[in-house]
Amino acid sequence: MDEPKKATEKAKQLIAMTVAKTRFLQPIQEAEIPVLQKALIIGGGIAGMTAALSLAEQGYETLLVEKESKLGGYLHKVYYTVDGIDIPLLMKQMIEKTSKHPLIKVYTASQVKSLKGYVGSYESEIQTPSGTISYSHGVIIVAVGADEYKPHTYHYAKDSRVLTQSELEKDLSVLKKEDIHDGETFVMIQCVESRDEKRPYCSRICCMQAVKNALKIKELNPRAEVFLIYRDLMTYGFKEKFYKDAREKGVMFLQYDPEKKPELEAKNGLVVKVYEPMIGELLKIPADHLILSTGLQPNPENHQIGKLLKVPVNDDGFFLEAHVKLRPVDFSTRGVFVAGNCHVPKFISESIYQAQAAAARAATILCKPTLKAEPNVAFVDDDFCSGCSICLSVCPYNAIERVEETKKEKTVIHAKVNEGLCQGCGTCVSACPSSAIQQRGFKDKQLLPMIEQITETT
Ligand code: SF4
Ligand code: SF4
Repeated sequence: MDEPKKATEKAKQLIAMTVAKTRFLQPIQEAEIPVLQKALIIGGGIAGMTAALSLAEQGYETLLVEKESKLGGYLHKVYYTVDGIDIPLLMKQMIEKTSKHPLIKVYTASQVKSLKGYVGSYESEIQTPSGTISYSHGVIIVAVGADEYKPHTYHYAKDSRVLTQSELEKDLSVLKKEDIHDGETFVMIQCVESRDEKRPYCSRICCMQAVKNALKIKELNPRAEVFLIYRDLMTYGFKEKFYKDAREKGVMFLQYDPEKKPELEAKNGLVVKVYEPMIGELLKIPADHLILSTGLQPNPENHQIGKLLKVPVNDDGFFLEAHVKLRPVDFSTRGVFVAGNCHVPKFISESIYQAQAAAARAATILCKPTLKAEPNVAFVDDDFCSGCSICLSVCPYNAIERVEETKKEKTVIHAKVNEGLCQGCGTCVSACPSSAIQQRGFKDKQLLPMIEQITETT
């Protein structure tokens, strides 16, 4: 579009509107909020432990709450990585370091029951096996993880020869060379009950998990047969090298059309039938083992946690960051951060980097004794407020309360904004039928001249 005259006209109007508003501007005083220099971390997997250690090593007291009876989360289902990292050893070291750190207090088999307050000044009630405790803290990091999806198709849970990738990985971690015989056939199917209407997202990690397990089988017995049936293979970045290794070692990669998903015939033996589009034929592969790549599913409690912390969950059930590029580990609620698989399925290394980033962002709040409150907060003019409570019901951050007080021997009810909680979204201002609630920097008497200006000049 190349319309310089219209663009200049628009620029002039915008400047005129701003000048019209400027005449009514008033100084805004930023309130100072005291900061409790302590953190609460929800979730004790690799992301939660990394964030806790990172904050504790910077000198901040951290309380780590894990709902299971032991720390580790999804790491308990990972036994090795494709580049040879011993995950059980890494997990043992992390758990030991976290549990023994003098600034980290760990509560397992525990859950956050309630939360009050705002950035810099939260008060949580935590249900622990020995009773409820309360904890005051300035920031929160959510790292509640995700779990492997258990499928309902391909005779899973009915036939012991049908396993998920994590279950195969567990078996492979203890098998010896002699346990896999020549010609023993493993057929892997990717994207099982994934990337469809019900679970439309890609879990990103399962293609690499399949390649990793295929390489492990070939390492144990190069004469074993591995067929990997995929939709699109997501071995991105330098992981492409392992895909090439697998091909060179004889792993057979077959693509399938999502409209013609592989089928299983399970009578005496297992036979996987797949239409191969390149050769245009239906292949029948007899299998000793059928391995299903099902990806990760979000924690079913994410919605409940999201409600408690006033942070959003996306349509897939994972937590949604404030901005994918500009604020990738922040929630839109100030002082609350996200890390690990509860945000989106990711590799262990990515969870560690994200947890370090979340801890660094949390430290930007914890490092000072006070914090400047959001300047453009809402406020109520008590003289106009009828106490109808409409603003309370629309505020997405529960920043407004109903106050009852006695004025000139009369009981009056009105709304009151908690400036620590208010995020300056303006929703309450547009809902108030009495124009009693206004937003600093966007008062009616500042906005109306802008509208008048534009209507005069058009
Ligand atoms: S501006 Fe938004 S966050 Fe603040 S009180 Fe109004 S509705 Fe709540
Ligand atoms: S909506 Fe307006 S009038 Fe009603 S309680 Fe809120 S500020 Fe008062």
